[in-house]
Order: sequence, then structure tokens, then C-alpha cells
Amino acid sequence: MVQSSIRILQAQGYKATKPRKLVLEVLEETDKPLSPYDIQGILRVRGKHLNHVTIYRILNLFCNLNLAHKMLSSGGFVKCSLEAVAGCHRFMVCQQCGAIQEFADKGLCQDENEFAQNLGFHTEHHLSEFFGLCSRCYKK
Ligand SMILES: [Zn+2]
Ligand SMILES: [Zn+2]
Ligand SMILES: [Zn+2]
Repeated sequence: MVQSSIRILQAQGYKATKPRKLVLEVLEETDKPLSPYDIQGILRVRGKHLNHVTIYRILNLFCNLNLAHKMLSSGGFVKCSLEAVAGCHRFMVCQQCGAIQEFADKGLCQDENEFAQNLGFHTEHHLSEFFGLCSRCYKK
């Protein structure tokens, strides 16, 4: 998966520098949202030292390329888990176990665009997070 992210990075004309690879690896291993300071801490334990500003810049780049996303609720960063799919990337967040499920749905985007259009607004992009219980927690 880190390899496929590196390919995306290179295809967009960005070098897979050591710091970028380190941040990718950390995001890849973790399924909880991480702040730049969290990432810095994880790397420090491994003897790798990156400035948090550098980490923040790398995360911003990843977000622009859809390799990672910034969660609306926590402000933490997660690795994108979707391949190229139609529709904006969104999240369902379980309030019990913290599991995050990413999804995209073109139809949902279209419905929202129409809704906004009726109010005279032209939508370019959607960000949204759903809160509730994941399928495992809901069954309990
Ligand atoms: Zn995504
Ligand atoms: Zn859950
Ligand atoms: Zn959308």
C-alpha cells in the first residue's frame, strides 16, 4: 500500500523523499486519526526525527493528492483507504470503538449538489462525517 501511494506521488511529479515515506508508513500502520505531533512521537521512538512543520507540510500535500484526509471531527489525519472512486471521500465514525469507515458515493454527491443548486449555490466539493455505531458495535 505504501508502494501504491508512492506511485501516486511520483505520477503527480513529487519525489518519494525519505520524510514522505516515513510519514506514509506511520499513516499506513494506524487506523486512528493522528496529529502531526502523534506522528512525530511515533517516529521519535524509532529514532527518526522530523520537525512537526515538515510533517504538517507532508500531510497537506498528501491531502491535496487524496492520499490522506483530515478528519473534520478530530482534526487528525488518516490514510485514504479508497482507490480511485467517483464521489467525494467521506467517513463513518463509530462513537463506541472509534472505527473509521471511508466511503464515496457519486449519487449522494449529486443529490447534495441538487439540494444546494435549489438554494442558488454551486458546490465544488463535499466533506462529511457520519457519527453512530459500526456494524459490530450496533449488533451488541
Ligand atoms: Zn479517501
Ligand atoms: Zn464500533
Ligand atoms: Zn461530492
